[in-house]
Amino acid sequence: MIAKKSPIRLLPPELRNQIAAGEVVERPASVLKELVENSLDADAGHIEVTLENGGQSLIRVQDDGYGIPAAELDLAVTRHATSKIASFNDLEHIQSFGFRGEALPSIASVSRFKITSAVSGADDCAHCVEVEHGRVAASGPAALHKGTVVEVRDLFSNIPARLKFLKSPSVEFKRAQEWLSRLALARTDVGFVLYSGSRENLRFLPGQDLAGRVSLLWPNAIVENLLRFDATRHGIRAHGLTGAPVASQPRGDRIFLYVNGRPVTDKGLLSAVRAAYKGLLTSRDYPQTVLFIEISPTEVDVNVHPAKSEVRFRDASSVFSATLHALQGALTLSHATEMPQFPQPSQIPRSGPTETPAAPPRPQGFWGMIDKAPLLQKSGGFTEYSAHPPAPRHALAEQELPWPSPAHADPPAANEPPEPERAPAPEPERTGHFQYLGQIADTYLALRDESGALLLVDQHAAHERILYTRFQREGTVGRGQRLALPLELPLHPSEIENFYGLRDTLESLGYELECAGGVLVVRATPQQLSRGDARDFLRAVLDGRKEDLALLFVSLSCKNAVKAGQKLTDDESAELLRQWFAVPDREHCPHGRPCVLRWDAEHLAKLFKRAP
Ligand code: ADP
Ligand code: MG
Repeated sequence: MIAKKSPIRLLPPELRNQIAAGEVVERPASVLKELVENSLDADAGHIEVTLENGGQSLIRVQDDGYGIPAAELDLAVTRHATSKIASFNDLEHIQSFGFRGEALPSIASVSRFKITSAVSGADDCAHCVEVEHGRVAASGPAALHKGTVVEVRDLFSNIPARLKFLKSPSVEFKRAQEWLSRLALARTDVGFVLYSGSRENLRFLPGQDLAGRVSLLWPNAIVENLLRFDATRHGIRAHGLTGAPVASQPRGDRIFLYVNGRPVTDKGLLSAVRAAYKGLLTSRDYPQTVLFIEISPTEVDVNVHPAKSEVRFRDASSVFSATLHALQGALTLSHATEMPQFPQPSQIPRSGPTETPAAPPRPQGFWGMIDKAPLLQKSGGFTEYSAHPPAPRHALAEQELPWPSPAHADPPAANEPPEPERAPAPEPERTGHFQYLGQIADTYLALRDESGALLLVDQHAAHERILYTRFQREGTVGRGQRLALPLELPLHPSEIENFYGLRDTLESLGYELECAGGVLVVRATPQQLSRGDARDFLRAVLDGRKEDLALLFVSLSCKNAVKAGQKLTDDESAELLRQWFAVPDREHCPHGRPCVLRWDAEHLAKLFKRAP
């Protein structure tokens, strides 16, 4: 039986707003996002956000922006009322976060809402409007010096079905926190503070740089491995920070995408990020990326989603390729095809005998690692090259050093090998010879390989790779340093679980640990780690990110590797190269930087602009 059709009628405004709220206001995080975006659009320099009960009881956003004149306050909570666009043309050149004029009325239709605003320098004092579930309940003068305060209480109290979909206060708080962080990364010039009740949860100081902000959100081990990128292609600029492959993790929630400063979700951009890491990550791992796309506003439609969190590009493939290009530039250096910088003739040292200055005293690190490290002797791959002390100094320039024979070659790495043009490295299985030519700029080791090509090996990157491989194989073999003052870390119940699971591994690294009454007492830490690093690392692994073991090795390798700018004797260089030729993945250091660049005859001919 068909029910009798009702007549068509216009919906009352509250109902229209509640319907719009269905799309715009999903949870406390979306309220926070809309309110903070309004504050940013109002040129605020400082924004304070308070959530109570995960935002369900209260979401309060206060800014010091330009405020709303008393006469416009009623309009601010009326649907399709905005100060940000006036014509369709404006929509094509949108610079603000907002433009739809529906956030405030939508939020006010599903909560007990109050907005107080003061225009600084204006004669009239502050005014406020209160709205209860979509109906204006009160308005009048108020007390506020400058800016705007929006208070949203009892979200969804009139929509029980929505209320049921909310997760626990801590989950909702986390989501809100993530939105605030996303916006804070886009606007590093603005200060932000987030409170949970009266407790300060996050504080971003104004003027912090992007890396500084990220370091408040992500663990040290990840932040230390971020690479900067910035490149423009097809008029599209892609810039930001991205994690070295070694820092990848099987979680995809550390990829933040922005288009013209607006946080977005976009499958195309995401796949460009993944494409840049192709061959460098396993299929279940994700990188950490903060990606900003700057593109002409006419090339992107921001009006495709009520929450404005999706965009449509006119030419998505150019955006894809600009992103891929920028990220690849950071992950692999395509410098081999670039023009090397040549010194001016006056800078080229004259030939003839020169005094070699006495080598400065050598820091313990380099030979310390090569001579003494017990790992060297124990590791099959290294034994051949490391058991003997450095040979007496001789004319190494004419000495030929063996490539590792296949018998000594390492097992293939778990990851796919990088594409050859990205990593112009010697092939591991080849047997042959190279000739050491000398150290360039106290940083690069120059070699000629058997095909006659010129190779430059970055001594720091190569040594990092050697040490990293060694750490991976053998840990730091339990040589801990005792702390004069033991560290005490209170543990969350879930961390206690992790602790017992990881205890053996941690102790093999040199930690001495004891857990009692929910507190972890640390009596010794791995030899090469500072107290702070050792604590941060412990926190990160107990947090459930076991992959961070790899990150520890990265930072240990970096700290202990020979530095750029350190003069090496020929013997030291040769020993370093011998060891480097024996490690897998030698094309890149653990941060993802290249260890070697190679110019063959063809490359050189091109650089010298010789006719083919
Ligand atoms: P939109 O942001 O799309 O314009 P909103 O409903 O979010 O729509 O806000 C309506 C209007 O209220 C805005 O256009 C702006 O003029 C004003 N407004 C809202 N929040 C603030 C604020 N924090 N400071 C100054 N003006 C604000
Ligand atoms: Mg808005």
